Amino acid sequence: MQDLWNQVRDVLADHISAHNLDAWFSEVRILEVRQGEVILEVPSRFHRDWIVDNYQEAMKRTFSGVLGRTVGIDIQLQEEDPSGFSRTAGTEDVVMPTELSIESPGREPAPEGPLGWRGRPNPEKTFENFVVGACNEFAHGACLAVADFPGGQYNPLFIYGGTGLGKTHLVHSIGNRILRQEPTARICYVTAEQFMNEMITAIRYKRTPEFRERYRSRSDVLLMDDIQFLGGKRGTQEEFFHTFEALQNAGRQIVMTADMLPRDIEGLEERLRTRFSGGLEVDLQPPDLETMLAILHKKGEELGLSIPNEVALFIAGGVRGNIRELEGALKRLAAITAMYSEPITLETARKRLAHLIVAENPIITPDQIIKTVARIHNVKTSDILGTSHQKRLVRPRHVAIYLIREHTNLSFPDIGRSVGGRDSSTVQYAYRRIKKQRDKDPDMQAILELLEKNLQS
Ligand code: ADP
Ligand code: MG
Repeated sequence: MQDLWNQVRDVLADHISAHNLDAWFSEVRILEVRQGEVILEVPSRFHRDWIVDNYQEAMKRTFSGVLGRTVGIDIQLQEEDPSGFSRTAGTEDVVMPTELSIESPGREPAPEGPLGWRGRPNPEKTFENFVVGACNEFAHGACLAVADFPGGQYNPLFIYGGTGLGKTHLVHSIGNRILRQEPTARICYVTAEQFMNEMITAIRYKRTPEFRERYRSRSDVLLMDDIQFLGGKRGTQEEFFHTFEALQNAGRQIVMTADMLPRDIEGLEERLRTRFSGGLEVDLQPPDLETMLAILHKKGEELGLSIPNEVALFIAGGVRGNIRELEGALKRLAAITAMYSEPITLETARKRLAHLIVAENPIITPDQIIKTVARIHNVKTSDILGTSHQKRLVRPRHVAIYLIREHTNLSFPDIGRSVGGRDSSTVQYAYRRIKKQRDKDPDMQAILELLEKNLQS
């Protein structure tokens, strides 16, 4: 069981920050593995809700991958959570109390965990093991410059790009390089989500002054990951605004990442938007085939794998520009080679990676999707790209947006551009709407399945 859990944790570690992994998964235990189900035990209701809300799907996929069969996940409580500290975080926002209300007597000690944790950069993510190609050389250069001159010209540095393209890797690299030159530098790595969680914990345990001091005056460099999470969270934005101001006024370096530009983040206050864009914005593009192969060979070497060329091409083609998936595929290959002492051939790769690799299909483009959607709905592609609000046109337009998001690596703003120049918030709205409908409307499910079949062929 422990072995299985370790394997699952390793895979999860690719998708979840070290901190979140530690905070939410360190006390998870496997109770039982059945044919179609894995039963887990967690210490509190808070853990359970959080995992169900945020990681249920990832856990299911990971367990299924590692076990080699599809399983569901059932999460049970170790015992009733006496604190009744149930779900607060996640989708809701919080507001910091005013300074006056903070000083109430009878402070409870804060629990170990989020608040006690100090965000160090992950020592395994460095510039040395970051492969540079045309897709990321500008971002890489900017990050190096920031690491060598923190608080200099590029402050704040804003890194944006699709998922799995190396944003987190780059921010850790900055932190590590600064630490190497300046071992006492106070580097704080935190995701926006974690920032909010810590804030919630601080409020609950009446420790907001410590929380504030930590971020505002005890960080020389703040590395804030996945800042798009702040979108729509007014209270957290308010708090972060003051953190940002305090750090900037003190000449401290701030580096942020997001999957889109500040101006495209829905529900982000104007004053934050302008500040985030006030330094340098750099983007990461999906890697071209050549860079993918270079990354693959480098990571293969690190794992002690020798990968035949045709296998490398198979993987690179299958993961479609997502470096995280590429790593997942490699790790699985490494595990399999070790477990079964199987040589890596195209055939084993095909068999063992079937669930990770989308297909050997040619890459699906927005154009293709729009054409297919138009054909099946019996409308013109120009109708989908156009501006008419007729119901019979709006539906296919939204469906096209949904499918592009699901089947390509494009960001919302890019999707907007490929669907007749729509803005990012319209696209996000359309995407969510269809996603919701897919969950509850069998007709919508049928249409989407039909479309997806048509795209794959
Ligand atoms: P993001 O934060 O943009 O979603 P990550 O930084 O987490 O992506 O990258 C996903 C995985 O791919 C990480 O394990 C990272 O180390 C690796 N990776 C991404 N880009 C590169 C690169 N250029 N060279 C080597 N590894 C990379
Ligand atoms: Mg990341």
